[in-house]
Amino acid sequence: MAVVVTGAAGFIGRHVVHRICRRGVAVVGIDRRTWTPMAGEVAIVADVAEPDPVVDRMLRGATGVVHLAACAGVRDDRPDVAMRRRRDNVVAGARVLEVTPPSTMVVVASSSSVYGGAGPVDRPRPCREDDRVAPRGGYARSKWALERRAMRRAAGGGAVGVVRPFTVVGPGQRPDMAVSRWIAALQAGRELIRYGSGDRRRDITDVSDVAEGIVRMLDGRVTTTVNLGTGVTHRLDDVVALVAQCCGVEPTVRVAAVHADDVATTLADVDRGRRLLGLTPRSDLPAMIDRQVRAAAMSLVDHDPAPRVAVEFVSAGGIPRPSTPHRR
Ligand code: NAD
Repeated sequence: MAVVVTGAAGFIGRHVVHRICRRGVAVVGIDRRTWTPMAGEVAIVADVAEPDPVVDRMLRGATGVVHLAACAGVRDDRPDVAMRRRRDNVVAGARVLEVTPPSTMVVVASSSSVYGGAGPVDRPRPCREDDRVAPRGGYARSKWALERRAMRRAAGGGAVGVVRPFTVVGPGQRPDMAVSRWIAALQAGRELIRYGSGDRRRDITDVSDVAEGIVRMLDGRVTTTVNLGTGVTHRLDDVVALVAQCCGVEPTVRVAAVHADDVATTLADVDRGRRLLGLTPRSDLPAMIDRQVRAAAMSLVDHDPAPRVAVEFVSAGGIPRPSTPHRR
């Protein structure tokens, strides 16, 4: 019996897997890239958008499912991005929701992008889960399409909850995300690129709080939609200054055109997360950025003190038990 985590090799996935494994609960991680599993984790390399008997067996036998696999990010402009978003965000999610038995709790990662922003930079308004959504651009629309699939499962009596993370930072952050890019540029002695005005704002959430929120959704079988944000929004220029300070470098900033799908402001209403999940997200941005900078400097992702060794998980059902990731 194990919790299945899709997108397990990804930024948030590694932190979620760690949180579950450290409680002694077995995890089956599924991702199409290879990675080194943690103690207590079985790694299955597979594409969840495709029918796969091993993946299906894992989903059918899971005690809970966290679905994180996605083509993440708003600013992806590659020519095939529409196809990849459809496939990885909608088709893959629909499969996971369909194959997992209705009584098994599934937590699905959507995104704050479904709100289409929190209003003007000088008068931001916190986004609440019951606000009318206004997804802007292909990524946000694909996440909204995924949420609608989750609603369909709920309407059919299936157990499902949706989380909407707000810009997540911390060790192992995706390299295409702003703080990662800025750290890499500063550490290499290059100018950093900021998209659009420095007055634009982001609600920035620590990855450990996001992982904790997801695990509490799963444990508590919270079958609604919950923001995973902080309720505080930061000017981009202030974030740049913090990153530079943590790197000990005077930044040279080049301003590039903002992407059409990139909203001016994000800000979460965090009341529901507090009430239903007991979350008190940290809002100490300097400490959050410092942790990511230190991890990047050491090329280290400190999910935890747990040893990153071969897995011990033994399956009764003929499930592969690799000491290296199992390739499908
Ligand atoms: P990530 O890119 O680091 O992780 C996603 C993982 O999913 C990758 O390892 C990728 O290989 C895997 N994947 C994608 N499609 C797959 C498929 N079809 N089959 C198997 N594996 C597949 O992204 P992340 O930042 O960890 O984000 C995790 C989830 O949270 C995503 O759903 C993302 O949209 C959502 N989210 C992230 C943020 C953020 O700030 N990082 C904010 C809002 C929402």
